[in-house]
Amino acid sequence: MIRVSIRVKQIAGVTALVGLVVVLLSVLHATRLARLGLHESEARGRLLASAIFHRVSQLVAVSPDPDAAIRNDPGLLALLQSSIYGESITDAAIVDRAGVIVAHSDPSRVGLWLDPRPDMVALLDASAWQQLRVIYGGTSSVHDVRQAMTLDDDEFGSIRIGVSTLLLREELNAALGPAFVTAAIALGASVLLAGVLAQLLLRPIHVIRSGLTRLGRGEFGVTLDLPPGDEFGDLGTSFNSVSQQLSADRSALADQKASLESAVDSLEDAVALFTPDGGLLFANPGMRAVLPPDPVGQPIASLFPAGHPFRQLVEETLETRRSLGPQPVTLGADDLGAARTAGDEDEGSRDERLLVTHAIPGGDGVLVGVLLVARNLSYLSQVQSTLAYSRKLAALGRLTAGVAHQVKNPLNAMMIHLELLRAKADTPEAREHVDVIAGEIRRLDEVVQGFLKFTRPEELRLEAVPLAPLLAEMRPVLEADAERLGVAIVVDCPSTVPHVRADRGMVYQALVNLAVNACQAMPSGGTLRITAVAAPGRRVEVRVADTGVGIPPEHLSRIFDLYFTTKDHGSGIGLSLVYRIIQLHDGEIDVESTPGRGTTFRVRLPRAEEGQA
Ligand code: ADP
Repeated sequence: MIRVSIRVKQIAGVTALVGLVVVLLSVLHATRLARLGLHESEARGRLLASAIFHRVSQLVAVSPDPDAAIRNDPGLLALLQSSIYGESITDAAIVDRAGVIVAHSDPSRVGLWLDPRPDMVALLDASAWQQLRVIYGGTSSVHDVRQAMTLDDDEFGSIRIGVSTLLLREELNAALGPAFVTAAIALGASVLLAGVLAQLLLRPIHVIRSGLTRLGRGEFGVTLDLPPGDEFGDLGTSFNSVSQQLSADRSALADQKASLESAVDSLEDAVALFTPDGGLLFANPGMRAVLPPDPVGQPIASLFPAGHPFRQLVEETLETRRSLGPQPVTLGADDLGAARTAGDEDEGSRDERLLVTHAIPGGDGVLVGVLLVARNLSYLSQVQSTLAYSRKLAALGRLTAGVAHQVKNPLNAMMIHLELLRAKADTPEAREHVDVIAGEIRRLDEVVQGFLKFTRPEELRLEAVPLAPLLAEMRPVLEADAERLGVAIVVDCPSTVPHVRADRGMVYQALVNLAVNACQAMPSGGTLRITAVAAPGRRVEVRVADTGVGIPPEHLSRIFDLYFTTKDHGSGIGLSLVYRIIQLHDGEIDVESTPGRGTTFRVRLPRAEEGQA
C-alpha cells in the first residue's frame, strides 16, 4: 500500500476544497455572464430591428412600390449593414411573408430563401445550464431576434437579426479570462498556505517522534518542548512524566544490574549462564579464568573439551531439564584451561570445586537457561584458615589480658622499689641507671596497657589529639636506643598540622612501635625521621622513615602477620598490634621499602573536627 503522509493528505484536502469552491464559483460566474451576454445581444438585435422597422414604415408610407423602395433604399441598406458592427450579431435581413429575402446586410443574398434559424426568445427562456451548453456546445449556431412587420394588422414580412453563439462565446471567454487567472492564483496560494499550515501543525508530531526515537535509544530524561495550551501540549506533559518515570525505572534497573554484576564479579566462585541451546550468555571473572578469550555467545562444546566436568553437568541439565549437583570435582591442570600458568603446572596444580547447576524455568515452565556455579573449595579452606587465625588471635587476646593482669602488680612493686633505690643512689651514674630502668618499666607498663586495649577494642577513647606533643614525648623513650646505635632522630610536626581523632595511648603505642623497629633496623646508625602532614580526605599522615636495612620484597606481605619476626629475640607482635590499632581508628597504614636504603611507614588517621580541636 502506498504510504501517504499527513502533510500530503492535508495539502491535497485543502487544495481540493479550494479547487471545488473555485470551480463552483467559476461555473456560477460563467452562467451569469452567459445570461447577461444573451440578454445584451438580444437587446442590441431588438434595437436594430426597431430602427429597421421604423425606416421600413417610412418607406412603405410614402412609396407607391414598397418592395422596390425597401430593396433600393440606401439608408435601409446602411442600417442593415451596421449589424456587423454589433459584437455578437452576424447579419440582418428583411424577409417577405414567404421567407424570401427582400433586403440583407449582404446584398448578394437578396431574393434567396432565408434558412429557418432558432428563435432567440426560446434561448433566453431556457435554463442557465442549457444556455451554457448552447454557447459552449460543439457546433456553433445562429439565433434570430425576430420582429414582425405589419400593415393594418396584416403581417407582410419580418425582420431577422442573427446572433452567433460563436461570437458570444468569444465575447464570454474574453470576460472570463481574468476570472480564470484569479482562480488559478487562488489555487496556487491555497496549496502554499496548506503547505505552511501543515508544517506548523505537524511540528509537534516531529518533536514527539524524535523524542520517542531518543527514548527508544535508551537516553535518560528525554523531555518534549511543546508549548502548553492545546492537545499537543497535554501530550507533551504526559510524555515528559512517562519519560521521567521510565528514566527513574531504568536507572534503578541499571543500579540493580550493576550491583548484581559487581556482586557476581567479586564472587570467588565461578558463575556462568547458558541459553537453552547451550550458548554462553554470561560468565563472571572467576569463570572467565577457565574459558578461552571472547567466550560469550559460543556453544559449550567449543568452550570445554569433551569429558570436562563443567560441560558434562551443563549438558546433562539441558537434557534432563533438572537442576543437578552439588558434585565435588577436582580440576587438573588440563581442565583449568586459560587459568593454567607455568607456575601452577610446576606444582601439579589441582583445583577443588563443588559444581551445582540450576535449570531456570520460564513463566510457562519452558527452560530459559542453565546457571552453572563452580564453588571454589580452596577459597573455602582459605576462609577456614582465616577463621582459625581469628580464633587464635582471640585466644591470644584472652591470654595477654590474663598475663597483663598478672604482670601489672609486679610492675607496680618494681616501680615502688626503684623509687626507694633512687633515694639511696649516691652517684649520678647510679641515678642514671635507675632512670633508664624506670623508663623501661614504664614502657613495659604501657605495653601491658596496650595489650589490654587490644583485647578490648570497644574501650577506644577517641578525642582530639595534637600530634606535636605526642611525638615529642616519644623522643626520650627512643633516645637510649638511638644513642647506642648512632641514630639521629628528626621530628618534624608543624603547628599547622590538624589534630587527629584518636585514642591517645593507642596511637602513641603504635608510633613508638614503628619508631623502635626503625631504630633497630639501623644497627650501624642512620636517621630516624618522623614527619606529620595534613593529607587529603580529611586525614593526617604520620611518616616514620629510616635509612636502615630495608625489608626484602618477599617479606613485605607478611610483616603485619602476628608472630612474624626476623629478629633473634623478636616477638612478631609489634606490627600486628600497630595494624590493629590503625584499623580500629578507621585509618590506613602502608609501607615502602628498598633493601639497603631504608623503609618508610605511612600512617593515615582521621582528622579531629574543628570544634574538638
Ligand atoms: P618484631 O619487631 O618483634 O620482629 P614486628 O611485628 O614489630 O615484630 O616486626 C616484624 C618484622 O618486620 C621485623 O622482624 C622486621 O623484620 C620487619 N620490620 C619491621 N619494621 C622494620 C623496619 N623499619 N625496617 C626493616 N624491617 C622492619
